[in-house]
Amino acid sequence: MPISGSEIVKMLPGRKPCKDCGFPTCFAFAMKLATGGASLDKCPYLSPEVKAKLEDLLAPAIKLVTIGTGDNKVQVGNEEVIYRHEKTYIHPPGIGILVSDKEEERKADEKIKKVKELQFPWVGLILKAELLALQFESGNKDRYLSLVRKAAQSGLGLILISRDLDVLFAARDLCADQRPLLYPITKENLDQAIPRIKEKPTPLGVYGEGIEGLIPLTKKLKEAGVDELLLDPGSKNILDAIRDQTFIRRAALKQGFRPLGYPTIAFPCFMGKDGLKEILTASVFINKFASVIILSDFDQYTLLPLLVQRLNIYTDPRFPMAVEEKYYEIGTPDENSPVLITSNWALTYFIVSSAIEATKIPSYLCVKDTEGLGVLTGWAAGKFTGDSVGAMVKKSGIESKVKHKKIVIPGRVARIKGELEDALPGWEVVVGPREAAGIGAFLPEYAKSLRK
Ligand code: SF4
Repeated sequence: MPISGSEIVKMLPGRKPCKDCGFPTCFAFAMKLATGGASLDKCPYLSPEVKAKLEDLLAPAIKLVTIGTGDNKVQVGNEEVIYRHEKTYIHPPGIGILVSDKEEERKADEKIKKVKELQFPWVGLILKAELLALQFESGNKDRYLSLVRKAAQSGLGLILISRDLDVLFAARDLCADQRPLLYPITKENLDQAIPRIKEKPTPLGVYGEGIEGLIPLTKKLKEAGVDELLLDPGSKNILDAIRDQTFIRRAALKQGFRPLGYPTIAFPCFMGKDGLKEILTASVFINKFASVIILSDFDQYTLLPLLVQRLNIYTDPRFPMAVEEKYYEIGTPDENSPVLITSNWALTYFIVSSAIEATKIPSYLCVKDTEGLGVLTGWAAGKFTGDSVGAMVKKSGIESKVKHKKIVIPGRVARIKGELEDALPGWEVVVGPREAAGIGAFLPEYAKSLRK
């Protein structure tokens, strides 16, 4: 539960407003701290005890954990709400594939390749899985380490899975600079593991027999200064999983219960290894509330629906997906190429740009900011009017790119033609097709007419 400014101010030194923090009073500083707009180190008069206590109270209810590094890092946690409609979910769950060292080398290579190469362009984004979970099963340490070495070369985020601590830490030492997640830390191996974890700290997956089993483990790790954790309550089936995941999320966000204030990891791969059931289990975990989800295998047909579901759940419901206002070049347009205009709702943009691309006619596509609304809705909301479109066209600089002064507007807003011609003196406004589907028939002839 977030701490309020008036609670924080009671813990500040209260020196006559010395203003050394850059704020006029302790109260002003406290209010900023409460909203995340200032950091504690700005006040030099906090005792170490108060500072530590405030750090704890101001920390996010669910810890931010980073697996991997660079472009391939996966950040999870920091969530602020239980229900997506309250605000938004922030960090989408990392999705990974399980590779056992018992599998044939060819199969393991194939799985590593899949995570690296299976990518889907989707409304301007690239959707893909991110993680490789490497399981020690063969009993042959060298075989496992060779798998870890190979997987580490991929640069992907790694999860190292071994109940044998010597093997686990030997694997960690091979790729510690890539911040792999080590799994499982359990009540049986915790004491032995802590000193070795501290040699080269990386994130940990903590396994407990039920939620009650997790709490003493996370408390002990926190006391030892190890705090980048993912929780696995060991749910055995979907019903248990929904109950456990919901309980952990509610305890962290509603009760401010720190020992459960961590993201979670889920293994559909161990819960239902029969294809569809496993994928459906993963889909449940995307909704409720896992932060890392490991599958035994996937292909394009099973992975894509999960990735799209994840995108939908982790898109801010308060803002439609939108693209930047500017002109876009499709193909390699020249001074005789057509100029078209549409709105900046991502779906509209990608449908229109794909339709233009399909004609293979290099074109300029101007995109007017309608705050993520489609063309007709944008017009009805006063965001795609002749005046505002005219202002956008002038500002975009498209005029210097073409010899002709002709712009194609969507047929659905033919009514802005006159207003737009007034706003763009010297331009001819051409009414294009009502739907993007009509671009294929319209654009080739229109492009030819520009070159006559
Ligand atoms: S530096 Fe500390 S004591 Fe001084 S005004 Fe700011 S919060 Fe108060």
